Amino acid sequence: MRVATWRGGSEITIDTVPDPKPGPGQLIVKVHSSGICGTDIHKTQGLFPGTPPEVLGHEFVGPVVEIGEGVDVSMMGKIIGCTLNPACGECQGCLTWSAMHCEREARLAGGFAEYVLVDQRQAHIVPDGLDSETASMAEPLACVISTLNMLGDIEEGCDALVVGGGLLGLLTVGVLKLRGAGHIILSEPNPLRLAMGTQFGADILNDPTKNDLSELVNDTTNGYGVKIGAEAVGVPALVANVSKLIRPRGNLVLVGVSPQGSALPIDLYDLHYKEITISGAFGAGDAFGEALETLPKLNLEGVVSGRFPLENTAEAMEVSASGVGVKYMIAPHD
Ligand SMILES: [Zn+2]
Ligand SMILES: [Zn+2]
Repeated sequence: MRVATWRGGSEITIDTVPDPKPGPGQLIVKVHSSGICGTDIHKTQGLFPGTPPEVLGHEFVGPVVEIGEGVDVSMMGKIIGCTLNPACGECQGCLTWSAMHCEREARLAGGFAEYVLVDQRQAHIVPDGLDSETASMAEPLACVISTLNMLGDIEEGCDALVVGGGLLGLLTVGVLKLRGAGHIILSEPNPLRLAMGTQFGADILNDPTKNDLSELVNDTTNGYGVKIGAEAVGVPALVANVSKLIRPRGNLVLVGVSPQGSALPIDLYDLHYKEITISGAFGAGDAFGEALETLPKLNLEGVVSGRFPLENTAEAMEVSASGVGVKYMIAPHD
């Protein structure tokens, strides 16, 4: 089969490798759609840890075409989405924190490939009526849900701010709305992404290159600031800015992944006396199933800006990194 291998920097080669064979408890997914994640791009830019050569991609969905020993035969042909790694369910990490913290099981293979070997413990059956391309966004949605689950119940009608209107930002707006947030402000300079905020439930759209965000937040919240301020880009200066727009006892939520080694340039005195809680989440946590259930409640129309064949993975990564559009897919069998 063919795979797209990241070789370091922006170099990606298309290679023919032996077809994967499922061992006990494993299965093979024929990739229908494999979403390009911000972390895939950040790896190629040296902003996220990664060691080439590596087949990137972890947001893939497709039918099960082969099963190994011990896998229920009813799995054959089922459309599945997969968590990043199998979780043993028995170690300290799995039992105490989440599947992402599993200490025993590592990711088996990457999703920018014709076929992917997965462990059955990673597999989630896609509900009927949900198309495969949409279902491939369960993984990023699970990251958002896992992050917002850290806050517990959301105060009904509270004000919220989301900075960044890429897929994660838009999904954050959508989940906040579903959970009862009141006014949601989305701030994003790209007009196409910003306009999409409305279909996810944003009430106020702000282009930060044209209007001052802090003035807008002040006007909307009687000068108090928002209860929930989410940064969905992964830029420390933006996180710092959001922290200043949060009301007392509010939450600073890290949706975007800042580069490893980032320091947070904020005044800790303010944070202390405003009693602000900062939280982030490790990937999809245990929220994958919840994400599959939530996807049909969101209007994802138009978020997929392009599908690329496997051969054009490098180009797809470049387009995705340019910030044009929202979400790009690798489609090895189109
Ligand atoms: Zn991802
Ligand atoms: Zn474990």
